Amino acid sequence: MTDVRDQIETLRREIAGVARDCGRDPDTVRLMAVSKTQTSERIGAALAAGQILFGENRVQEAALHWDGLRARWPEVELHLIGPLQSNKVKDAVRLFDCIETVDRAGLVEPLARAMEKQGRAVPCLIQVNTGNEAQKAGVAPGGLADLLALCRDHGLGVDGLMCIPPPDEPPALHFALLKKLADRHGLRQLSMGMSGDFKKAIPLGATIVRIGTAIFGARPVAAETDEPA
Ligand SMILES: *Cc1c(COP(=O)(O)O)cnc(C)c1O
Repeated sequence: MTDVRDQIETLRREIAGVARDCGRDPDTVRLMAVSKTQTSERIGAALAAGQILFGENRVQEAALHWDGLRARWPEVELHLIGPLQSNKVKDAVRLFDCIETVDRAGLVEPLARAMEKQGRAVPCLIQVNTGNEAQKAGVAPGGLADLLALCRDHGLGVDGLMCIPPPDEPPALHFALLKKLADRHGLRQLSMGMSGDFKKAIPLGATIVRIGTAIFGARPVAAETDEPA
């Protein structure tokens, strides 16, 4: 498992280097280990390397791994980065420390209710479909202001924005758009950049880069479908 540790250490250095090169404090860019489809052993290797922030894209898979691990590693911070179905909201609120994928009005009330019931104010990010892709989750850029207002009406704490750029377009355009939207609405957190493009996301303001492949190696192809969590 030294490969996982080596990859994490290399990434930490790379992220800090890119941050410094563009005049940012390296501490303002957090490395998220995207642990979907990984075995407990490989997740354990990341934990042993001091990794604290993890992302999962499916609620049930996350519960399977993390219900046990979190008891041993209470400092872990777990983010939901996949689409959230309304019937999984309760579990998501119980399990995650941040829900990065608030993407539609229909989630807001159920989330607010579950948080109140569980006495757990889970910070949220809004996922923006910056490429206006029909098959992709996220609110269209033009719908962000309304969704944000609805979240605020219901007392949801929205800390920032998240996006997944279309695979066939320059990601920097999408990162720049997300940054512009965040600035317009006074939001601090920007979850953007993955294994292939995080070096472009940092100069454009990323505060969280979500890295799977570059830490753990390639995933099985079946894991790449964008099914609801
Ligand atoms: C899988 C996934 C990632 C990690 O992608 P890599 O290319 O493996 O780094 C990041 N964000 C989301 C939303 C994902 O589903």
